[in-house]
Amino acid sequence: MRSQHFADDTVIGSRLLLPKLWQRLSPILVKNRSRVGLAVLCLLGAKLALMYIPFLLKALVDGLDTDPNQLAIQAILILVLAYGAARLTTTLFGEIRDTLFGRVTEKAMHEISLSTFKHVHSLDLEYHLNRRTGGLARDIERGTEGISFLLRFFIFNIAPTLFEIAMVAIILWVNYGAQYALVVLVSVMAYGSFSFRATSWRTQYVREVNRADSDSQTRAVDSLLNYETVKYFNNEPFEAGRYDIALDIWEQARRKNRLSLFALNAGQALIIAVSQTLMLGMAALSVGAGDMSLGDFILINQFMLQLFLPLGFLGFVYREIKAALANIERLFNVLEERPSIAPHSAAPDLALSAGDIQFSRIEFAYRESEKVLKDFNLHIKGGQTVALVGVSGAGKSTVSKLLFRFYDPTQGVISIDGTDIKEINLPSLRQAIAVVPQDCVLFNDSLRENIRYGRPAATDSDIEQAVKAAHLAEFVERLPDGLDTLVGERGLKISGGERQRVAIARAVLKQAHILIFDEATSSLDSHSEQAVLKAFKALAGRQTTLVIAHRLSTIVDADQIVVVHAGSVVEQGTHSALLDASGKYAALWRAQLQEHR
Ligand code: ADP
Repeated sequence: MRSQHFADDTVIGSRLLLPKLWQRLSPILVKNRSRVGLAVLCLLGAKLALMYIPFLLKALVDGLDTDPNQLAIQAILILVLAYGAARLTTTLFGEIRDTLFGRVTEKAMHEISLSTFKHVHSLDLEYHLNRRTGGLARDIERGTEGISFLLRFFIFNIAPTLFEIAMVAIILWVNYGAQYALVVLVSVMAYGSFSFRATSWRTQYVREVNRADSDSQTRAVDSLLNYETVKYFNNEPFEAGRYDIALDIWEQARRKNRLSLFALNAGQALIIAVSQTLMLGMAALSVGAGDMSLGDFILINQFMLQLFLPLGFLGFVYREIKAALANIERLFNVLEERPSIAPHSAAPDLALSAGDIQFSRIEFAYRESEKVLKDFNLHIKGGQTVALVGVSGAGKSTVSKLLFRFYDPTQGVISIDGTDIKEINLPSLRQAIAVVPQDCVLFNDSLRENIRYGRPAATDSDIEQAVKAAHLAEFVERLPDGLDTLVGERGLKISGGERQRVAIARAVLKQAHILIFDEATSSLDSHSEQAVLKAFKALAGRQTTLVIAHRLSTIVDADQIVVVHAGSVVEQGTHSALLDASGKYAALWRAQLQEHR
């Protein structure tokens, strides 16, 4: 399926790609127009000095090729100095040009990396659940590098080389006749069309290498991220085997890529050798016949050398540009992913008053065939604590994901204080809700910075208060580095219960009006569970709180307990009312009492 996708848009993709690329790059070039202008001036200066070199050489050779008695040594010395100056100018202007334009390329890479990063963050949860982080990072990195390459080489290589070819052809024509210009033009065209065809044929191998590269990287990253799982099942050999297969595919792809590169280089070298031989042969005959001086022969030779140097390079640049376009295409595929839940920045901010939440006739499915929520109705009065209970898979977490707008329901309306949450701008909705997730993943940073994540502007004393509120103080005191302890990748160096309390501390800092606790107490021992519950209650005092609970003991005094079963509310009431009703809740309660006995 995927290879089909690649094969199909080889041509179309690249053709559409250039305007899209221009759209992104032109504002950056315009913004840096003085640098770009100066760089182009340097380029012109360097080219003109370069074009002058063969003429200086000719004058030198002709000047030296006279009777030693008549040798105008002063004139010769001036020519030698001019030759040196022309060489220096060419190199120096080239360097200045690269330095000036380097800034522009960096700015372009900066801007594109940043906008890609923001874009990837704006995509739906669903995209991120399906993504391949290693591969995605690679695509982004290679795409931005491709853009930098394209910028540098298109402006400073392709266009000037074409200009140089035209100039050389004109100079040869005017000074030595059409046949010389013809050889130059025919060989350049032969070279160009051969390179073009051979390079298009090679694109498939370049893509194959890129794909194999991403795939093996994804494999390795995924395997390392799941380090613990690999250990649990003693699956190191299995993982190594899979990585080995991915590397085999990569190796094969690289081999084909290299062989095709060899064919391309050999063909180009042949065309260059034939035309250069032809030119020199013609020039040698003319010198022999007395139609040309030795200086003319040197001039023609020098022009041919100078011309084929960038042309050889042009072949490389063209190949690289094709590869860069393939990379940019992958980056643009990422950029073209559209989130189904757009931030809708024109929508008004959430106007919170009581924090009253209403779910009305909600239907929702992750996959079309399976409805996870069916005619789900629930009213949470402002300031109330409502607990969702029910068997695993009943749809409890889904309810909280809909409230946070990770997904939109397929039918029905969710409203806060009477406003449909779809009519509110997304950041203001999310700012109003603090979530303590089921499994809290931490950044590989200190405990302090991880807690500060709840409100990046929080002061150290705010953090200490949050630590107390989340009953983490005792734990932090026991750590030799206290809050400065590093938590390890994804927070794996601290226990599940501690991670969860870090999540609670973050939620405390966020100071949101609505709280969602998703199984927030599931991995705490009963001592810290009680402590955390107290903290919760203090915190949830006036906020609207949705608790998704498995341990019924933790939510006995919730204002309302809602039993969710197969995506609908089947019972609702206080703990004692539900026990009296002897329904599903009473059965769950009895089952949990049995477990703890
Ligand atoms: P609960 O919180 O009650 O255990 P969930 O709301 O997490 O249940 O899940 C309800 C159903 O939806 C389950 O069958 C689960 O497998 C499915 N589900 C949850 N998340 C996804 C997802 N991202 N894609 C597909 N199915 C999902």
